Amino acid sequence: MILTDVHVHTAFSADGESTLEETVAAARAKGLRVLGVSEHFDYDYLAAGVLAEGKPIPYTDAEAYFSRIRRLQAREAERGELRLLAGGEYGFAPLAQCFDLYEELNRTHRPDFVVNSVHTCDGYDCYFGEYFAGKSKRDAYLAYLDRVRESLDAPYRYDIVGHIGYVARNAPYPDPVLRYEEFADVIDDILKTVIVRRKILEVNTSSRTAGTPFLPGADILTRYFELGGREISFASDAHRADALARGRETAVAALRTIGFTCLSVPDGEERFFVSLEE
Ligand SMILES: [Zn+2]
Ligand SMILES: [Zn+2]
Repeated sequence: MILTDVHVHTAFSADGESTLEETVAAARAKGLRVLGVSEHFDYDYLAAGVLAEGKPIPYTDAEAYFSRIRRLQAREAERGELRLLAGGEYGFAPLAQCFDLYEELNRTHRPDFVVNSVHTCDGYDCYFGEYFAGKSKRDAYLAYLDRVRESLDAPYRYDIVGHIGYVARNAPYPDPVLRYEEFADVIDDILKTVIVRRKILEVNTSSRTAGTPFLPGADILTRYFELGGREISFASDAHRADALARGRETAVAALRTIGFTCLSVPDGEERFFVSLEE
């Protein structure tokens, strides 16, 4: 099977630990054929004035990142073993300043792919405890899901809908699982919109304490399949080279059981498909 991992961070992201070169070397050592690097561009933080536990966050240097990865990409293309994709993860906020910054990034650097993700909602990052203070699970998750639905209308180009269920990754509730049956209406709206817009739904194995081995969980992926959704991508969301492709076998087995037969990989204007068969 051709191994892919599309959504990985390196030290260009504030929370990435391995250098780009270490990550590429690790991908080759693991036998990956496609590595999609997607550094954080958290212009939602910038536009909405969000802080991470009271502190501002450092931003990825787009100029330095894209110039370095394009050089590595050319070298890898010559070797012919690893398809290295230069991408970005865009944190969505429904604000004109945020849209303008992403349009500008797309125009200037023409990333090979963009993961559009919701991290912030109601002025907080939904990864931190402060987001949940005074909120029931239902309120916290509904506000997040409404924001995900809004993110699908982003006016800038994006390809992949990142980690639906991010809100559950570090949620303080005894039962943090984001279940389809509890939020069926809004999740249906999200999934149908992903399909109509021809976007790719990400399966992200960095689920931490969300209570499912990947985000979104198998129940939501099953519903996506029932509604006709076929475009999915695999993401470890690794922030260290040794976490590349982590959880891939479990996710792929679950995807096969649901009925998915391939993964979609965006690369600029084109999109190619990788079989999930042995
Ligand atoms: Zn993310
Ligand atoms: Zn990420």
